[in-house]
Amino acid sequence: MSLLVTGTVAFDAIETPFGKTDKIIGGAATYISLAASYFTKDVGLIAVVGDDFPQEYIDLLNSKNINTDGLQVKHGEKSFFWSGRYFNDMNSRETLITELNVLADFDPIVPASQSSPDYLMLGNLSPQVQSTLISRLAKQPKLVVMDTMNFWMDIALEDLKKTLKMVDVLTINDEEARQLSGEYSLLKASRVIRDMGPQYLIIKKGEHGALLFHGNQVFSAPAMLLEDVFDPTGAGDTFAGGFIGWLAYTDDISFENMKRAIVYGSAMASFCVEKFGTDNILNIDENQLLQRVKAFRELSYVEML
Ligand code: AMP
Repeated sequence: MSLLVTGTVAFDAIETPFGKTDKIIGGAATYISLAASYFTKDVGLIAVVGDDFPQEYIDLLNSKNINTDGLQVKHGEKSFFWSGRYFNDMNSRETLITELNVLADFDPIVPASQSSPDYLMLGNLSPQVQSTLISRLAKQPKLVVMDTMNFWMDIALEDLKKTLKMVDVLTINDEEARQLSGEYSLLKASRVIRDMGPQYLIIKKGEHGALLFHGNQVFSAPAMLLEDVFDPTGAGDTFAGGFIGWLAYTDDISFENMKRAIVYGSAMASFCVEKFGTDNILNIDENQLLQRVKAFRELSYVEML
């Protein structure tokens, strides 16, 4: 099934207790589309970069069968730039710099050949662009998944609330769920947020896994236990890419299958955090992925008497 992805394609500069990078390729849509490309070969990317963005990175995306016809390159402008620093526990971070650059006036143009995707993943970027993209599609996708972050809650809350009414699944982290809902309990927060629009809510809890809420059902998945976590950047997006990639591959949006999608998303994210940036998700071996999915299952499987 076809998948259309939007979000940032960016330069990131990252600092963790283990080291520091100069500007490397990053951005929500980069991680999402790379992760999804392991599950479906029909991934289209709608995004914008400046002419400082190296062609070799675009070639890299193309080499993974990611269609970049909808990637605009703005001449004389700079790409989105984000810089962040992780604290010692690696579960929390501070944003040091967000330079919107080309993103400030991004007008998402959807090539006609990609205007009827089966699945739509609205990665992190301005909620106004996210809703514009939905309104430009020729038909309603089977499932629309949206990711966002505190940055947009702080500067574009009303747009965010409008976009929430148009999506089926929202993925955010625990801190953001509390900010958006004004509730500390994640169960209460999940009700408040789902009343804003999305029928499904995924709350990502970093090294503590993820929760899926729908109606009165809740599914809790642990995170993979890893010996070394070098850089959590992109873990949430890689998770989202694996999640929607699995749903697009199986073309099944039942709650049961969403649970599986969460396990695949979590397994993909576990690779992402083991090296800096996108390094470790560029060449994941299928057997390694299946091993992780199996290990995941064993991590919390218990046969009750
Ligand atoms: P994650 O670690 O999954 O939350 O995502 C990290 C990625 O999000 C980085 O590669 C950044 O380029 C990108 N990013 C950071 N801030 C923003 C923002 N305000 N809007 C869109 N993307 C962002």
